[in-house]
Amino acid sequence: MANYIPALAEVNPDQFGIAIYSNDGTLHTAGDAESEFSIQSISKVFNLILAMQQYGEDIWSRVGHEPSGQPFNSLVQLEYESGIPRNPFINAGALVISDMNYSRIAAPQYAMREFVRRLTGNPNLHYDHAVSDSEFETRARNAAMAYLMQSFGNFHNNVEEVLRYYFNNCSLRMSCVDLVKAFSFLANRGYCRHSDTQILSELDSKKINALMATSGLYDEAGNFAYRVGLPGKSGVGGGIVAIVPDQFSVCVWSPELNAAGNSLAGMSALEILSKRIGWSIF
Ligand code: GLU
Repeated sequence: MANYIPALAEVNPDQFGIAIYSNDGTLHTAGDAESEFSIQSISKVFNLILAMQQYGEDIWSRVGHEPSGQPFNSLVQLEYESGIPRNPFINAGALVISDMNYSRIAAPQYAMREFVRRLTGNPNLHYDHAVSDSEFETRARNAAMAYLMQSFGNFHNNVEEVLRYYFNNCSLRMSCVDLVKAFSFLANRGYCRHSDTQILSELDSKKINALMATSGLYDEAGNFAYRVGLPGKSGVGGGIVAIVPDQFSVCVWSPELNAAGNSLAGMSALEILSKRIGWSIF
């Protein structure tokens, strides 16, 4: 369990859910697919999409798109890469993206929740303030990253305010069913069927999938490509979302984590399914 966030350590580990949503609108579920959990790093994808909508390609002057090969909360590369995080899906990268969104988006505190409510069609999605307060209390490591980036000129707003914004977004509670609906446009060339909206261009949605495939599972992205073979994004709340391009979005959730911070049962379930159905994009 993500014991470093005290409120997450209290979640019952013996839970498992899965949802699969096909591009024709068919939904399959099993287990605790409707139970809400803390999406944590999965929010980094929504965060990036909001920034892409504001900044386009200018994002990449402040964050890279290379895998980090380091744990999600590592500071080491920041020092010798002049405060430019390796990618938007490690904490340092998500903090810079949060800083960018904080500068440009009106009412930033609610922007992601509103965006995700539209993507899912579910108006009952909420931030979990017990979790975000708990993370703020224990923010030393994320704060250290943000201040280090500020020292390199790559952080422009008040660090403590942006940390609040970032933790709030990580605390968003969603179920596997919500997540497959929210991510379905990435399986469908940027088009969200249930809201009849082109969320991103086909090219930009391919770029997000490429980033997920190379950097979506922290320093285990290679292992995930090897075992599952799909673009994916995990969070320390135990959720993993994956995309089968042109076919499905899939989400698994089980709170117990492996050493890299990815859902243990979730990884296994995706591996078994991928093998059996022949999902790997490779
Ligand atoms: N809110 C978590 C943190 O900043 C996100 C970690 C994760 O899911 O990777 O540490």
